[in-house]
Amino acid sequence: MNNRIFNFSAGPAVLPLAVLQEAQQELLNYQNTGMSVLEMSHRSKPYEAINTEAEANMKELLGLGDDYRVLFIQGGASTQFAMIPMNFLTPDRTADYILTGAWSEKAQKEAKLYGKTHVAATTADGNYKRIPGFDEIKLSDNPAYVHITSNNTIFGTQWQNLPAFDNIPLIADMSSDMLSRPFNAKDFAMIYAGAQKNLGPAGVTVVVIRKDLLENNPKTIPTMLRYATHSDKDSLYNTPPSFAVYIVNLVLRWLKGLGGLAAIEKMNKEKAALIYDVIDQSNGFYNGHADKDSRSLMNVTFRLPSEELEKSFVSEATAAGLNGLKGHRSVGGLRASIYNAMPKEGCEALRNFMIEFQKKNS
Ligand SMILES: *Cc1c(COP(=O)(O)O)cnc(C)c1O
Repeated sequence: MNNRIFNFSAGPAVLPLAVLQEAQQELLNYQNTGMSVLEMSHRSKPYEAINTEAEANMKELLGLGDDYRVLFIQGGASTQFAMIPMNFLTPDRTADYILTGAWSEKAQKEAKLYGKTHVAATTADGNYKRIPGFDEIKLSDNPAYVHITSNNTIFGTQWQNLPAFDNIPLIADMSSDMLSRPFNAKDFAMIYAGAQKNLGPAGVTVVVIRKDLLENNPKTIPTMLRYATHSDKDSLYNTPPSFAVYIVNLVLRWLKGLGGLAAIEKMNKEKAALIYDVIDQSNGFYNGHADKDSRSLMNVTFRLPSEELEKSFVSEATAAGLNGLKGHRSVGGLRASIYNAMPKEGCEALRNFMIEFQKKNS
């Protein structure tokens, strides 16, 4: 249908077909306004309605109430790496980072530019193939916050159970698994995600923030980099990435229509199992990077017996309509990103391709 392929790219990534079709339908004339959302003032009533609904839908899916805000801002998750210490790390305090991959390292690197940091746990040994156990986490005294990466896009690992700390703000980069499963969002002071993996198109970054974290953002930092600026103006302080927010809202409606986070988790588990089962039953032909108890439901990373075979796997898969499977250079091999929007048929097609490829090449 529509000559669409199965897109396993890590991001920007696959979007729900129903969302793309809805956006296409409304592209030229959004709800009888006679114009596209692309052309619409962000101060207009229809856009304000989109902005308000997107915040409400996000909070509903996460089970959050009035003590949280949802902000739609720009600069990607990478700008959040800097905004977090700028807003929350004072010179007398230390920020704790749990390192589970390249993105956590980058987050800590930005914090180091602003103040003291402490590595509360790391699984760099073994090239980030696992998530640390709770008993491995050693916090500093009274940290300003603890930062984690819930899903490690590059390495294909994911916290199976998310940690929680009493009275210490917990901040999570959920760029690659936001809204992929139910979790206790109230355990988090802040959650952020670049939209382009699991929430929508590139260009908008979603920040879910507890209101008490908006109270003491320093007035000495640039206005655009203060969370309070965006909260005070309902994400309309300056021109927002309006079309991206509109698509995110359609994705949120789509998720609600499927039955919310419990329903999508069930689907994600079934999809991931299709591929992990092939890996586990391949007698070592496919070799998963992640330890079994740290496996991601979103990014499946695996190697083949040789780099030559990995190359032919990628090119033959591409020819078969399975796109974006080349792994990140720091892990090598293959990576199948199977975000919420990847249909089960895509995972079935990949499973069948993997079984056939092994038969031909072993
Ligand atoms: C992709 C990714 C980022 C970087 O996101 P940008 O929006 O490109 O800055 C950060 N963290 C994680 C976990 C990611 O997967």
